[in-house]
Amino acid sequence: MGEHPHTLKSLDDALDVHEDVKAAAKDATRDDPATVVVGGAGLSGIQSAGEVAEFRDRHNAPIDVVLVEALPEIFPPGDSEIQGALRHRLEERDIEILTDDPITAATADHIEFDEREDLAYDVFLWTGGVTGPSELADVDLDAEHNRLQASSNLQTGDERVFAVGDCSLVDQGDDEVAPPTAQAAWQAADVAAENVARAIDDRPLRTWTYDDQGTLVSIGETAIAHDVEVNGVAAPVRTFNSTPAKLLKKGAAARWIAKITSWSRAMKAWDAL
Ligand SMILES: Cc1cc2nc3c(=O)[nH]c(=O)nc-3n(C[C@H](O)[C@H](O)[C@H](O)COP(=O)(O)OP(=O)(O)OC[C@H]3O[C@@H](n4cnc5c(N)ncnc54)[C@H](O)[C@@H]3O)c2cc1C
Repeated sequence: MGEHPHTLKSLDDALDVHEDVKAAAKDATRDDPATVVVGGAGLSGIQSAGEVAEFRDRHNAPIDVVLVEALPEIFPPGDSEIQGALRHRLEERDIEILTDDPITAATADHIEFDEREDLAYDVFLWTGGVTGPSELADVDLDAEHNRLQASSNLQTGDERVFAVGDCSLVDQGDDEVAPPTAQAAWQAADVAAENVARAIDDRPLRTWTYDDQGTLVSIGETAIAHDVEVNGVAAPVRTFNSTPAKLLKKGAAARWIAKITSWSRAMKAWDAL
């Protein structure tokens, strides 16, 4: 995709996107709005498009938000129920969705598609695909896009090296790998830590299978919950939004902050989550 799009991995990336969206809106008018294009409609792309729409509505800014996905439907790993719910919410927030046509190139001011006409943009955010850190590019282990292949015990081709999270492709059988999500990274990390200790003691390693505890997706100030388990119990409704979904999403973020700091820090951050 070249050097033109923003990518989104760190806080600095997010602040850069924010600054560019703000500057583009400042130069735009109602007759000539700024166009913000988000490429890739996975978790990151959907939530980013939602945040830009939230910014637009909060500041009454002249911005068109366009979400582009190569495959026929947004959130490709999801089932049709959550895909439909997400599409409904995104369209309700006046986000234009373009599917079924991949972005093939990006210049400094427009993107090109396989079939569609070129689309001019003011800000382009690329979220179409997870890449591992550049430090892994020259490592002599099986990898794809800087993500290390690991077996279900989290061990890579070198038995001294374990991999979890976004920098890994952890075998889940049937040619599947674990998803690049916080939920998967967290689960795998516990098993990897134990397996490092087991390897040192020359004990058999545990295997790990991803346990999907549901999906929580925010679209600005709203959220959608799907197939969610709370403390191991499935929620009575499969897909829901509004306040319960928003509280669950905020609760998951607060729980993470509490785990790495304290509940008082988590509660102080509540309004900003
Ligand atoms: C916009 C966005 C929205 C998302 N939404 C969700 C969601 O709703 N739910 C969900 O489950 N997942 C979500 N994800 C995915 C989730 O954030 C990742 O899957 C998860 O953070 C992966 O954890 P990790 O520990 O592998 O990597 P990271 O969280 O990226 O942590 C890697 C750490 O390593 C550090 N590091 C990098 N290089 C070096 C180096 N050379 N030396 C030392 N340290 C280094 C980095 O600074 C970073 O702190 C989202 C991701 C994005 C970008």
